[in-house]
Order: sequence, then structure tokens, then C-alpha cells
Amino acid sequence: MSKNNKEYLIKRDNNEYEVVIGLEVHAQVLSESKLFSASPTKFGSEPNTQVSLVDAAFPGMLPVINEFCIKQAIKTGIGLNARINNRSIFDRKNYFYADLPQGYQISQYKNPIVGEGSITLDMPEGEKKIGIERLHLEQDAGKSIHDIDPKNTLVDLNRSGVALMEIVSKPDLRSLDEVNAFIKKLRSIMRYLGTCDGNMQEGSLRADVNVSVRKKGVLELGTRCEIKNVNSIKFMQMAIDYEANRQVDVLEEGGTVDQETRLFDTKKNETRSMRTKEDAHDYRYFPDPDLLPLELNDEFIEDIKKDIPELPDEKKKRFIEKFKLSPYEANILVSDIETSKYFEDVSIKSDIKLATNWITGELFALLNDKSIEITECPISSENLAKLINLIKDGTISGKIAKNVFEIMADGNKDPEKIVEEKGLKQQSDPKELEKIIDKVVLDNPKNVGAYKSGKDKLFGFFVGQVMKQSNGKANPQLVNEILKKKLS
Ligand code: ADP
Ligand code: MG
Repeated sequence: MSKNNKEYLIKRDNNEYEVVIGLEVHAQVLSESKLFSASPTKFGSEPNTQVSLVDAAFPGMLPVINEFCIKQAIKTGIGLNARINNRSIFDRKNYFYADLPQGYQISQYKNPIVGEGSITLDMPEGEKKIGIERLHLEQDAGKSIHDIDPKNTLVDLNRSGVALMEIVSKPDLRSLDEVNAFIKKLRSIMRYLGTCDGNMQEGSLRADVNVSVRKKGVLELGTRCEIKNVNSIKFMQMAIDYEANRQVDVLEEGGTVDQETRLFDTKKNETRSMRTKEDAHDYRYFPDPDLLPLELNDEFIEDIKKDIPELPDEKKKRFIEKFKLSPYEANILVSDIETSKYFEDVSIKSDIKLATNWITGELFALLNDKSIEITECPISSENLAKLINLIKDGTISGKIAKNVFEIMADGNKDPEKIVEEKGLKQQSDPKELEKIIDKVVLDNPKNVGAYKSGKDKLFGFFVGQVMKQSNGKANPQLVNEILKKKLS
């Protein structure tokens, strides 16, 4: 991702209008096989190598529901604090497109598997709850490829039939920051649950973005436009920004916003009308006669509940209450499951406070610097814990630890060995330190005089000299104590 942190604002808003956003997120279910067939779902395979007769809609082929995908949807619903419906129905959504060989998509319409829920966002001004309308299961379509053959459109059916969860938010989002926080939180929850890998580059998470504007204080919602299939948070924000401003302009010129389906052109940074918004009845939804209604008993759902791991909100609460972390620290440590695991591994073996500081400070800086994820971190949690313990037991100072950390970052080296090999052990023998201090005092009679006559600031000078003489290895606390005595 680019590091362009340009801020997008509703420029022409003049504070008179507010933007209202609702998202329909399509999250690919993390599953080895498809929703109604046994074909694999691996990303990046050769075109049309993961296609069964069901996925290619050969006549007479019947869909067989994949229980694992059902469980994944239920898990996600639980993670969204949502109602799980005991009865849901698979419908056919009919439309024609070359990458949809069945001529319809199997989806859920009136009776989705998951009902209302919510996601809590941590915004700088406090927590904000965003309503979830529903989560339903559906099949993905194939992929039309327009840029290989100049004359023809090619079709790859590998994705055809892959299970998607469509997660529909209520129109509760009010800013680009909230959209960013919403997608990240949803992604984090699903990654904790192992129900979606959240990989936006590979298209595992994409969204239709619904945008309307209204004058502040007006209760009624404005007419929305839906921007289809946006596959990064940055593009979502750019599309909303453009679209909200466009709608304000239309209204300010005395016009009305048409309910439309629009497309975001990432090159021109603008949205364009694709078609007037189709209504549900245009799709001729009807229950798929090849599939029975999905009936789930309470026991099945309860069993899945037992398997739900600790999720980010609970983990955050625990980190604050048990570990005494600040909400800010807890937030950044739980936002990503791998980071939270790393943190817990380090803190169990060393010290919570130091682990927090080292991970949110040095370690994050290192990851940022190298543009890598924590899973690719060159320093194992075990070795970071060792480093922290070396500081804790006084073997090395915090300052030396930073040098050791740098060496560790070049490869997962054992900090104990580094300290041993480079002779970095802290000098904590009072007799040895006294020798150095006596020399510094003797060599700087002028400063000693000035200090004694009231120039307190000079104390730092003496500490600095002692540290220099000891190559940074003197135990700073002891140096302070002994110096105070010698200079009094
Ligand atoms: P459809 O499939 O027709 O798009 P859905 O009910 O599935 O309808 O999705 C509607 C989405 O649009 C939801 O995310 C909802 O929050 C959002 N939405 C509805 N009305 C508005 C509005 N006036 N402004 C912005 N978003 C809206
Ligand atoms: Mg929609």
C-alpha cells in the first residue's frame, strides 16, 4: 500500500451537510472448498483449474451445501453480536452475465442465516456502535477478463461458487474515519475467528458503498447512490468523498439525487453512473428448488459458540483490567490477532509494562521501517522476552538494549549471546564505578566547583562523562547515587 496519507474531506460540505454511509461488505469465507461443491478455493491458481461441473452449471448438476461454510457464517454472526436464525432460505437471484454460468446466483434474500447485530468502533471521541442489518451467504461469480485478448472477453470460473458472506451495515457511518475503523474492526474480528483472511489485495474483502447526504438536523435520509465493488479502504474513502461532494453540488444547484448504481474510476478518482438502481423484484428472487431451507437446531449453534475464541473487544477489556494497559495501548495491541499473540507471548515470559513499551515502540517502528507484518518479524517473541529480562535484572541498561535490539533485527539472534560476545554487560560493581567517577571528578575541577556553588544542571554533565568513560555500560542508577555522594 502506498504511504500517501492525503486526507479526504467533504470539502463543499461547509458544515451544512452530513454524509450518511452504509456498507455491504463481501467477505470471502475462509474455506478449502466452495459453498456448494468440493472444488478448491486457492487464490492465484491457473484459470479454470478449480471448476467442478456444479460450478460450471452443467445440466443436471445439483448443489450440495458445505457445512463448514455454514459454521463459518454462524461464527462470524456470533462475532458480530448478532442473532443466528434457526431457519434460513437460499434463493436464486436471476441475472445474465457471461461469468455467471447458472444464470442466477444462489444467495439469501428474505431469510438470511444471520440477523441484526453490531460492531463497536473505537473512535478518538469515544466508542461508537454501528448496527449490522444482516449477514447472508451467497456464491461468488466467475471473473471476466477484458485485458488479455483484444477482441474477446475471457472467463475464469475458479471463483465461481466460492462462498461469500455479505455483511450489511445499517446506514450508521458518518465519516471517512468511521468507514476506515469499521472495515478494520470487521476484518480484525473475522481474522480472530478464522472465518475470512481479510486480504483486500486478493479480493477476499470488498464492499459496495452506499452514500447519501442530508442537511444537518434533518432526520430523513437522503437518496443514496451505491458504488459497486470497491476493494481497498483508501478507494472507499476516495469514492465516498467524491460522491458526497457530487451529491451536495446537485442539491445546491436545486436538483435531486437519483438513486443509482455507480462505479468508482480509480484512475480519474471519480464515480460514474452505471445504471439506475435495480429493485429487488427485478431479480425475480425465488427459493432455490434444489436446496432445502437450512434448519439449524439450538444445540448446533451452541456447540459453535463454545468454540469462539476471545475476540478483540474482550481481549482489550482484559488487557486494561488485568494488565493495567491504557485503552490506547490495549487498542493497538489487540487490533491484529497476530500482534496480540506476540504481545502475550512476550509479556508472559518477561514483564508487561516493558513488553508494552518495546512492542509499541521499537518493534512497531522496525516493522514500519521494513514494511513487514509481525508474522515476518525477524525478532521472535522468545528473544524479545529475553532482551526485556536482561534489562529487568540489570544485566544491561535500556540504552544498550536498543543497540542489542538493532543487532537482533538483522536476524533472530539471541540477545544473551550478543551481550556476551560484545561485552555489553552493565557495569554494576560500585568499586569499579567509583574508580571512573573519581577520575571524572578529578579531571573536571572547574565544573565541580560550579556545581557545588549551585549550578545543579551540571549534574547531567558528570553522568554523561561517566557513561562515556564506561562506553555506555555503567549502571545509570548506581552512577547517580555514587555521584551524588561524591559531589556533596
Ligand atoms: P440493496 O441490496 O438494494 O443495495 P440492502 O438493503 O442490501 O439493499 O443494502 C442497503 C445498504 O444501503 C445498507 O448498507 C444500508 O445501510 C445502506 N443505506 C440504505 N439507505 C441509505 C441511505 N439513505 N444513505 C446511505 N446508505 C443507505
Ligand atoms: Mg446493494
